[in-house]
Amino acid sequence: MGLTGLEIFKQLPKKNCKECGQPTCLAFAMQLAAGKAGLDACPYVSDAAREALDSASAPPVALIKIGAGDKAFQLGNETVLFRHDKRFEHPSGIAIQVSDNEDVKAKVEKINKLVFDRVGQVHEVNLVAVTNDSGDAAKFAEAVKTAQDNTAYPLLLIAGAAAMEKGLEVAGANKPVVYAADDSNYEAMVNLAKKYEAPLVVKGSDLNSLADLVAKIVALGYKNLILDSGARELSKVIGDQTQIRRQALKLFRPFGYPTIAFATNDDSITESLYASAFVAKYAGIVVVKSAEPQYILPIITLRLNVYTDPQKPIAVESKIYELLNPGPDAPVLVTTNFSLSYFCVAGDTEGARQPAYIITVDTDGISVLTAWAAGKFTPETIADTVKKLGVMDKVNHKKLVIPGGVAVLSGKTAELTGLEIIVGPRESAGLPSFFKKVWNQ
Ligand code: SF4
Repeated sequence: MGLTGLEIFKQLPKKNCKECGQPTCLAFAMQLAAGKAGLDACPYVSDAAREALDSASAPPVALIKIGAGDKAFQLGNETVLFRHDKRFEHPSGIAIQVSDNEDVKAKVEKINKLVFDRVGQVHEVNLVAVTNDSGDAAKFAEAVKTAQDNTAYPLLLIAGAAAMEKGLEVAGANKPVVYAADDSNYEAMVNLAKKYEAPLVVKGSDLNSLADLVAKIVALGYKNLILDSGARELSKVIGDQTQIRRQALKLFRPFGYPTIAFATNDDSITESLYASAFVAKYAGIVVVKSAEPQYILPIITLRLNVYTDPQKPIAVESKIYELLNPGPDAPVLVTTNFSLSYFCVAGDTEGARQPAYIITVDTDGISVLTAWAAGKFTPETIADTVKKLGVMDKVNHKKLVIPGGVAVLSGKTAELTGLEIIVGPRESAGLPSFFKKVWNQ
């Protein structure tokens, strides 16, 4: 177990100088004990104390880097059990399994196409999991080479020690995830992972055996780890994932690593549902077999929702957006820079085949009515945005369309901008009818 706040406090300099951002050394000690601060924030800690406190100041869930190059990503560094307590830091990596018994190139090419654009962001899967189903080490190495030659995604290699050695000879330089060290092979697997500095999955048969095995591997000097409790049944996986996160946050160090969960199932709908549950419940990596977009997109969408910082709405840039090559007679629509607001307005305008200019007021990414209530979407901010962006220089009229939900802003906005204010529909879904019955009349 980690040190308590009081045990940490005994090692601190007790200057109460506040340079760490906390009012007292005791408050800083409590933050350290809760894993909410780093020891580096105090410039006065002695080397001896630093050594003693190292484990207490390490993050509850270690940060693990996966892969190399442009598609490398990180897992871990999580500090909360519930997203609303702060936020989840690193989205689950989605791994698609490819058997060395199938056409590896064809499947990898399918995986490469699983790229989706949502609310202006690009979302994709993260790993190709090459599996040694053939039991043939040479065939596995060939499959690993084919996968590596045909994708930029990091690899997850699933094989026994002998085949793993061959696979790592091919792909070790790109630091693939090595799956898995268990009670029967952990010394060989640790040696291989160490040689290539690759993340190593530790697989237990239950939580107790997992904790014991992690302790043995850490004693061998390797901490670049990912955890697999060994469970495959839905409720057991969720139970284990939850316990691992819970104990990690209590600084039970054997569980202080990201996890991997297997949703693999011959029924793709079941697989997609399982994977979604594991994304919601703490899995660092989720493995599936299907590479069909209709089963992967729901998992990616859920991941986007779960891993969005609740304190930071997704925003678009405050600027002029030109839809369908608008001419000088096109309408000018105003909304906020909340990404969903913008994309709804843009989508419904394009759907109506109406060329238009949209300007987005910087409301820190909050929606129209919330921004109005918060004093961020006001006649003044609208007028400032119209002026700053110079949007009226692009058109031959003096009309501005505001959202119907804030019709009350019309008078003052007209006064400040000198424009005719037209009140649009309350919801963007009403835009096609608005263009037809109001704007184009
Ligand atoms: Fe104490 Fe160090 Fe924080 Fe100063 S910076 S208050 S010495 S913990």
